[in-house]
Amino acid sequence: MSFESLGLSSPLLRALSDLSYTQPTPIQTQAIPHALLGTDILAGAQTGTGKTAAFALPMLQRLAANAGDRSGIRRVRGLVLTPTRELAAQVQESIREYGRHLGLRSTTVFGGVGMQPQVEALRRGVDILVATPGRLLDHLGQRTLDLSNVEILVLDEADRMLDMGFLPAIRRVLSAVPRARQTLLFSATFADEIKALAQQFLRNPVEVQAEAKNSAAHTVEHRVHPVDASRKRDLLLHVLAQDSRRQTLVFSRTKHGADKLVQILESAGHKAAAIHGNKSQGARTRALADFKSGRVVTLVATDIAARGIDIEQLPAVINFDLPMVAEDYVHRIGRTGRNGSTGFAISLVSQEESGQLRDIQKLLQREIPRHEIEGFVPTLPLKMTGPAPKGPARGNQRPPQPRPPRGAPPRNTTHGHASRGRAPAGKPAARPRFGQG
Ligand code: AMP
Repeated sequence: MSFESLGLSSPLLRALSDLSYTQPTPIQTQAIPHALLGTDILAGAQTGTGKTAAFALPMLQRLAANAGDRSGIRRVRGLVLTPTRELAAQVQESIREYGRHLGLRSTTVFGGVGMQPQVEALRRGVDILVATPGRLLDHLGQRTLDLSNVEILVLDEADRMLDMGFLPAIRRVLSAVPRARQTLLFSATFADEIKALAQQFLRNPVEVQAEAKNSAAHTVEHRVHPVDASRKRDLLLHVLAQDSRRQTLVFSRTKHGADKLVQILESAGHKAAAIHGNKSQGARTRALADFKSGRVVTLVATDIAARGIDIEQLPAVINFDLPMVAEDYVHRIGRTGRNGSTGFAISLVSQEESGQLRDIQKLLQREIPRHEIEGFVPTLPLKMTGPAPKGPARGNQRPPQPRPPRGAPPRNTTHGHASRGRAPAGKPAARPRFGQG
C-alpha cells in the first residue's frame, strides 16, 4: 500500500517524501480514503500508530481543495481539539510539516500561556486551529474566535478529554460549530461514553481500528517486578543502572512523587527531569526538548502531562506506580516499541497494587510475566487470586482523590514471612534483560 493509492494530492505526497515516510500505517490506510470523501470517522488508535497523519492529511487536502482565492481574511475551517497543550503543540507541528507545500495557515491555542499572542494570531486569520477545550472556550467567551465556518472537526484522544472532565466543554464547542461538517473522533479506547458521544455528534461514521481493541502494541515486552513499596526507589535505580544511557520514561502517579524521584535520580548522578501539571509551560517544554535531544535521559511524568508525548522509538517505559485506571497502562506504553522496534514496559509493583495489576491483566487479556530481582524480593507477596474488583476497569471510575504518595512510612522489609508468595510463573529471581538489548 502506498500513500499515492490512498488518493493524496501531490503537495502532500511531496511533504511525506521529505519526511521519509514511505508507507502508510494501518490506521492511515484505513482512515484516509474515507476521510478524503468527507465521511465521519470513529477511529480507535493510540499514540504511536500514526493517528495524527491519519486525520491531518485528509483534513489538509480537503481544506486546500476549497480554499477560495485566499485574498480575504482566513477563517477557521479545520478545528482539532486535544486534551493537553503538549499534544496540541505536537499536532500543530505535524500539520505544519504535512502542509508545508499547501499554503494553509495553522495555529494553537492552549492554557498556561498569555491570551494576547493567541488573540493576535487569530485576528490575523488561520485556516486550521489546534486547541485544548478550556482555552478554546475562553476565546469563544471573549469573542476573539469565531467557529461558524468550521468544516472539519477532529476530537483527538477523545477518551482522555472525557477522563479530564472536558465533556461539558466539548459539548459547548460542538454547539458553536456548524451542523454540516465532517467530524473525526480518535480515541485509544471505546468506552461507553465515547460511543455515546459518537452517536450524538457523528453522522453515519465509518469505524476504523488501528489494532485489536484495547490491545497494547505487540512489540512491547511487558514485565512486572514485584517489590515492597519501601524498596521501589532503590529498585528503580537498580533497573536504570543496567543501562544509564537508555532513554526511559518513568511514570509516577503523583506530581509530588515525580519531583521526589527526580531529586533521587539526580543525586544518584542521572540526568533526569519531571513534567507534570504544576510545572510552568516553559519548564514542561524545556524538559521535553531536553529529553528529545538526549540531554535528559530519564523523564519522570504523570499520566496527564505525558499524554501525546511523541518520541520516536522510546526504548523503555517504567511504571514506578501502576496507574489507578487500567487503560492508562495502555496509554503509557503506547510510547514504546514503535515502528517494529522492541520496547520494554517495566512495572514495579507492590502488594498494595495487586488489584490494579489484576485490572491491567484483565484488560490486556493476558498475564504479564513476573520477575523477582535478587535483593528486591518482596516480603509482601502480590495478591493475584481472589475476586477482581467489581465492575470493569473504566476511566469514569477514576477515584476523585489520588492516594497519598507512596513510600512513607517505610515498612520493615527484613522480617517478612518465610513464604514469599512467589509469582505463579515460578520464575527464579532474574536480572532484568532490559539493558542488554
Ligand atoms: P502519532 O501516532 O500520530 O503520534 O505518530 C507517531 C509517530 O510516527 C510520529 O513521529 C510520526 O511522525 C510518525 N509517523 C506517522 N506516520 C508515519 C508513516 N507512515 N511512516 C513513518 N512514520 C510515521
